[in-house]
Amino acid sequence: MLKIPFVDLAWQHQVVADDVRTALDSLMSTSAYILGPQVHDFEEEFAEYCGVEYCIGVANGTEALTLAMRALHIGPNDEVLVPTNSFIASASAVLAAGASPVFVDVEEESFLIDLTSAEAALTEHTKAIMPVHLYGRLVNPTEVQDFAEKHGLLIIEDAAQAHGAAFDGERIGARSKVAATSFYPGKNLGAYGDAGAVLTNDLELAEKVRMLRDHGSPKKYVHEILGYNSRLDAIQAAVLRIKLRHLDEWNAHRQHAAAYYYELLASEERVRRPLPAGSENVWHIYPLRVDAAARDTILRTMETDGVGVGIHYPIPIHQQPAMVSTTKTTVSLRVSEAIAPELLSLPIFPGITEQQQDFVVASLRNAL
Ligand SMILES: *Cc1c(COP(=O)(O)O)cnc(C)c1O
Repeated sequence: MLKIPFVDLAWQHQVVADDVRTALDSLMSTSAYILGPQVHDFEEEFAEYCGVEYCIGVANGTEALTLAMRALHIGPNDEVLVPTNSFIASASAVLAAGASPVFVDVEEESFLIDLTSAEAALTEHTKAIMPVHLYGRLVNPTEVQDFAEKHGLLIIEDAAQAHGAAFDGERIGARSKVAATSFYPGKNLGAYGDAGAVLTNDLELAEKVRMLRDHGSPKKYVHEILGYNSRLDAIQAAVLRIKLRHLDEWNAHRQHAAAYYYELLASEERVRRPLPAGSENVWHIYPLRVDAAARDTILRTMETDGVGVGIHYPIPIHQQPAMVSTTKTTVSLRVSEAIAPELLSLPIFPGITEQQQDFVVASLRNAL
């Protein structure tokens, strides 16, 4: 049993447990398990929270990305620019839509998509760019928009790690054609199982995704297009509605914890801290860079101390066995390859205490 887990979902559950039980009892008394009022209400509430017109609840974040691309007619012969420092789903969703991911590098400072690298990876087949708001920090929306306009590309945001994050006050989905997010339990807004959503300001696109998630069906037993069974589960929607009410407070707790780590590690020259990113970063992950030769020993030592640590991500997507044979790499991915063996993520979650963080940092220093 870890003294300090990497994430503490039990803490969150205990905050909402009574409300969740009441909501589930009421759901069960109505038997509205598929779509229905809970899903509808969550979609409205989350769209409003993000400041976006439409939210369509789907089965998980990976399918949210795939459905968004299918709705935009991104498919065979199309290329989508994807940062290689991300979770594999960013790229596998492109393949699932029938298109090809083209990997691009990340910036040395932010570990987020590097638009210079994206420019070098353009071809006549490039149809879209996927900024991934990794770790809870939004990729600069103005820069992405300018880039996309200049090159005639669509923007599909992977916002799985950025619920509540903002850039100049704008949240996920505000500027792009479409954003996709995940409510995997460990995400900032997490369900009690798999769940995801597509966000857009475009009514036609919203209706297309709504059909795609439900067997391509605009009405029962009429199937206009070939779709999926990828609906957001009503039980998950009921849980998400309750947790959404706590999201800002929980994100504020993450921000406080990130600031405290930043301060605790100020004099530690053996680690490189992520940039302090102000009040708009929601710190899904707190990544550090350490010496590559020592990283695995540090990890094991901290785990022995009872500290849950992670690596986000140990293998860039283009080097994953599942990707090597099916994708091609055309530009230098030097930064992603250099940081992968150096990354180390410290525990960060709503409910983490300063005493726990003191212990984490003491364990890290000892391991260094
Ligand atoms: C979690 C995650 C996904 C996939 O979401 P699932 O709900 O697990 O399918 C996609 N992209 C990123 C960056 C993620 O962190």
